[in-house]
Amino acid sequence: MKYIPTIILLFFFTPLAYSQTQLSAAFVSPFDFPLLMSGNFGELRIGHFHSGLDFKTQGVSGKKLFSIGEGYISRILVTHGSGYMLHVRYNNGYTAIYRHLSGFIPPIAERVENEQYKNEMWEVSITPDSIEYPVHPGQQIAWSGNTGYSFGPHLHMDLFETKSGDYVDALPFYKHLIKDTRAPVLQSIMFFPRWGKGVVNGKEECQTFTLPTTEPIEAWGVIGVGVKAYDYMDETTNHYGVHTVSLSIDNQEIFRSVVNRFSTEENRMIYSWTYHSHMKSFMEPGNKLRMLQTFNEQNGLITIDEEREYQFTYVLKDLYGNTSTYPFTVRGKPQPFTQPDYKNKFYLEWDKTNTLNEPGLELHIPKGSLYDNVLLNNEILFDSGAISFTYQLNDESIPMHTYGDLYIGVRNKTVADSTKYYIARMGKNGKTTSLGGKYENGFVKARVRELGTFTIQVDTVSPKIKEINPRQWKNTRKIIFKVEEKETDITAYRGTIDGKYVPFAWEIVTNRIVYSVNSRKIKRGVKHTVELSVTDACGNKGKITMDVIL
Ligand SMILES: [Zn+2]
Repeated sequence: MKYIPTIILLFFFTPLAYSQTQLSAAFVSPFDFPLLMSGNFGELRIGHFHSGLDFKTQGVSGKKLFSIGEGYISRILVTHGSGYMLHVRYNNGYTAIYRHLSGFIPPIAERVENEQYKNEMWEVSITPDSIEYPVHPGQQIAWSGNTGYSFGPHLHMDLFETKSGDYVDALPFYKHLIKDTRAPVLQSIMFFPRWGKGVVNGKEECQTFTLPTTEPIEAWGVIGVGVKAYDYMDETTNHYGVHTVSLSIDNQEIFRSVVNRFSTEENRMIYSWTYHSHMKSFMEPGNKLRMLQTFNEQNGLITIDEEREYQFTYVLKDLYGNTSTYPFTVRGKPQPFTQPDYKNKFYLEWDKTNTLNEPGLELHIPKGSLYDNVLLNNEILFDSGAISFTYQLNDESIPMHTYGDLYIGVRNKTVADSTKYYIARMGKNGKTTSLGGKYENGFVKARVRELGTFTIQVDTVSPKIKEINPRQWKNTRKIIFKVEEKETDITAYRGTIDGKYVPFAWEIVTNRIVYSVNSRKIKRGVKHTVELSVTDACGNKGKITMDVIL
């Protein structure tokens, strides 16, 4: 009888104690050397947030990668984008993704290679069940590397909540292993006068200022403000994303961002939150990022309607609590601004379905694709000899959350084969990007996820393949080709030795297609026939055949 109170006490206190230790010590280090980061969670990248932590690997590939906890390998992947990858589902409710690995450990390495030969594809996706590959904390699971879209050896490690699928910051689990005494630094602030509603220093377009300001900032009407800032850590020269940004006006907090979780669906909303590396301190109506919070009725926008000084303060904080504060003043001063024409057919509303019909063009934008209302700066460029008109839907590209359907009419059918036509997006520098597309009844149709400048082009040119130092292949046991595809994209490739498939890897950073010769399968010191064919998005095929000693 006298033990019962103790049991009750344990029952009540253990869960609390457990949940606290869970955050400070739930995971062990993935490496057996000191941890340094080259990238943090939620850093701003083009079109997405950085979804994990980048750990430095002392400048080399081939470091032993250890499981950070107790669980099992739930996915084994080889992809062009992330190279060799592992998903490990841990018993504590999280799943880790390890990317850019140089290799898998024995039972998995053979299984992956077998899969490549079986499917005759470099890319592999295997979903083992929970009993096949159990892992323990500190057990080696792979080798770190530099495969896929990676610009130097490092480990990218994502952590997501298994149940919700949300990417979360893994740094709270490793804070005690990584030193950080440096606070974030503000680079510049940007003002966003609202179209037809506000003005800053006599101008209605976005303007940047550095702090402290040399000239007074005078504004009137509805404006937004944003900040460009980076964080820093001890013992590295890298810069990182800022964990917390808070904006107050006259000591009232109106906006706060805490970069700690996002879903795949939210990832693209970075386009709405940021503009030219500045993080807006207001939310456009189509922006549903949960990491952002506003505390006024205007979603963080500010109405300057009194002739007085408004005191703005940015507070930037990292996960360790290192804090920096940046005050500045905005003076309220009446200034005129243009009256917008909301009836203009190029005025698109974010919460409506929008359709544009121009000579030779049709565009359907589903409801909820745009993050905000927009007045397009639309122009059609005529060139009588061209395949189609060139349509500037807007002078500056406007990213959308979901795809719209774009149809452009062919005016001059310069090539009979209709599979060669594609819609190209024209960049400001004159560079074009293929969006693919399908020819049908005089139109080419493609899906677009931004409003920019579009036209039709044809691709009748085959991808070019060039061998790189073939005389060294027998020593390095590495067959290397460089591929050049100027117009569209490479969509398929296949390599063989003596007529039999071998798994060539496509290194997307360098555009090389590489096979590391397997000595068990390919006899050394004798002549072999190596063949590689590469196909682009318009079905043009390039091919190379060589007799070489391997
Ligand atoms: Zn990364």
